[in-house]
Amino acid sequence: MKNIKLAARNGSARTIVRVGKVKVGEGFTMIGGPCGVESEEQTIQTAIMVKENGADMLRGGAFKPRTSPYAFQGLGLKGLKILEKARDITGLPIVTEVIDTRDVSWVCEYADVLQIGARNMQNFSLLKEVGKSNKPVLLKRGMYSTIEEWLNCAEYILNDGNPDVIMCERGIRSFETYTRNTLDLSSVPSIRELTHLPIITDPSHGTGKVSLIGPMSLASAACGADGLILEAHWKPEEALSDKDQALTPAQFGVIARQARAVHKFVSELK
Ligand code: PEP
Ligand code: MN
Repeated sequence: MKNIKLAARNGSARTIVRVGKVKVGEGFTMIGGPCGVESEEQTIQTAIMVKENGADMLRGGAFKPRTSPYAFQGLGLKGLKILEKARDITGLPIVTEVIDTRDVSWVCEYADVLQIGARNMQNFSLLKEVGKSNKPVLLKRGMYSTIEEWLNCAEYILNDGNPDVIMCERGIRSFETYTRNTLDLSSVPSIRELTHLPIITDPSHGTGKVSLIGPMSLASAACGADGLILEAHWKPEEALSDKDQALTPAQFGVIARQARAVHKFVSELK
């Protein structure tokens, strides 16, 4: 692919992104937690419960990029401090979204992985800024983006000196309305053949429906994903954002166990 240089596979070994003791790209990584950090109790209880149910890392947005300016925008710094406390209690590294170039340096003081959301995939100044940081980046696919455009965004981050990029397929817009997005699982083996970077999927945003997250998680494991990022909430019915796709920690646990079994089975196929 033209202009994909640093990210190109070119026969190189696959990159393993290390986050503390977690190795993304080796085995099957489970990231779980709420869409947004809403309160200390909600985040810490959810963190403890997803950890008990097999999570390797905790997700949670302190800055929420919402379609409406009137929707819950996240707790900002207060949310990051809550995430820090959840990490102290559980030991789980924190994956959290950064939406503004001005925030990158101080968000790095709290985050273990910087998430670039779908809506910001082509925010080139933000990509350059996280490229200069020393934290791994979880790069979501833009909802209107081709694989080539997505890889060019990874290239921006690598080109600014940050080698630790995790690709994340989260679904693209199609004519379908039953599902929130169309989870493009053909991107998983495509990314694996085009680049050395690890690839995970996000069936929570990819489907928007609790009932569909399990099957699409297993399909992700079967087609070569290195892990999953899933939204879970200790009380899903009370979630302030993305309630319809919030798993209970127990549901998260079933998916984690089954997806790891599928990953193992597929890895051992001859
Ligand atoms: C999220 O992870 O909560 C999120 C906003 O995801 P996306 O950027 O994929 O919509
Ligand atoms: Mn969400």
